[in-house]
Amino acid sequence: MQRELLEKQLREQKIELVRAMYVGPDGITRGKAFRPDDLEMILESGIGLTQAQMSVTVFDHLPPLSQYQPVGEVRIRPDVDTFQVLPYLPGHARMLADVETREGAAWELCPRNLLKNFLNKLSAQGMQMQAAFENEFTLLEQTESGWEPVDQLNCFSSAAMDLASPFILPLISALEQQGIKVEKYYPEAGPGQQEIPIRHQAGLLAADQQVIFKETVRGVAQANGYRVSFMPKISPAFAGNGCHIHFSLWNENQNLFYDPTGEFLLSQTARQFMGGILKHLPALMALTAPTTNSYKRFVERCWSSSYTCWGPDNREATVRAASGFQGQEAATINLEYRPCDPTCNPYLALSALICAGLDGIENQLDPGDPLLTDPALLTSEEQHSLGLNAYPLDLESALSALEQNSVLLSGFGESRINDYLTMKRAEIALIQSLGDDGERQAYEFRF
Ligand code: GLU
Ligand code: MG
Repeated sequence: MQRELLEKQLREQKIELVRAMYVGPDGITRGKAFRPDDLEMILESGIGLTQAQMSVTVFDHLPPLSQYQPVGEVRIRPDVDTFQVLPYLPGHARMLADVETREGAAWELCPRNLLKNFLNKLSAQGMQMQAAFENEFTLLEQTESGWEPVDQLNCFSSAAMDLASPFILPLISALEQQGIKVEKYYPEAGPGQQEIPIRHQAGLLAADQQVIFKETVRGVAQANGYRVSFMPKISPAFAGNGCHIHFSLWNENQNLFYDPTGEFLLSQTARQFMGGILKHLPALMALTAPTTNSYKRFVERCWSSSYTCWGPDNREATVRAASGFQGQEAATINLEYRPCDPTCNPYLALSALICAGLDGIENQLDPGDPLLTDPALLTSEEQHSLGLNAYPLDLESALSALEQNSVLLSGFGESRINDYLTMKRAEIALIQSLGDDGERQAYEFRF
């Protein structure tokens, strides 16, 4: 955004605080706010942050074994192109930020910078990514017994739409005022569960949009007396909150996932990209299903997917090859990665998909036969003969797979992965030490 336009908005909208926000490897959107008078200086030199802040757990606990300790500083450097006035919070504006060294180089743990690097790798091969994160979340209202889901009604129910309407309409308005195009709205299967699919965006903007989406959902809820939870599995009895990632690769105006002669109209590029995802799957999940609670979501026949496989419009598959709109397949065919939830850091999640997918393309990996049925309806012999593997049962299993995955280790850098493993393992230990309530404390409202 042009500087003059930005300053005009600051004045006219009477902005008192501008937030400079980054998403840490723990998935929490954090940052510092500054006074508009300091804009020039902050854009120039950023805001100080202790190096170790990128290594803390969701409980703000710095693992003693972390490579970064509270000595040394990096800078939160806001990206002026992401400036937005917050439509739901008068007097506040926001910019998304990179984290850089004092000298202005990318900080080695900055997730946003990692994604920029992977997008550059794609574009060096003539490919651009379009992606959209498809969040589910639970809308809660205050009752005498605490915060409870706003409804106990049905998936896509008109009655549930009525109940959520005082929240949904201001939410749609706030999203669209920030340039996010809302495509649909519907109540989902769980109590109080909502879903608002949004238009895909190119590259970095897709991940930025995910941050803005969640910030706006939470902010509009609070402004209207509600709360929201992005926790993947609030209760074993409820449907999980997923965050499927829809994506496609493009060269200019050509959808590289589409081939009119391919099976299910899928190109070799789409098949190989899926081959990479399926090959690296348990490791990928350490980054796309990154909390202890994430693994409770993977229940058979809950449409969260729970076996490593792909299939055309198969909502129990890891990758659903989405057939797109009838007659417009060339423009709308895309892949939908399902073992992702809204506690992920979107920059790390997209980076992980690209890292695995590029490996698939480079090594011409085959994704195997498509699964045309619900894997839960197969006998274990049938599952075995089709090469289906059940997902890891817990976060530690996914972390161990990540630790041993040479493609992700070299793509992300060993230092970043080691820091992540240390942080996540400390998070697991803390949650376990808190007993039954640990997960709820960790994840219910922090994301
Ligand atoms: N709630 C499901 C999940 O955990 C997804 C339902 C759907 O297909 O939208 O991923
Ligand atoms: Mg859904």
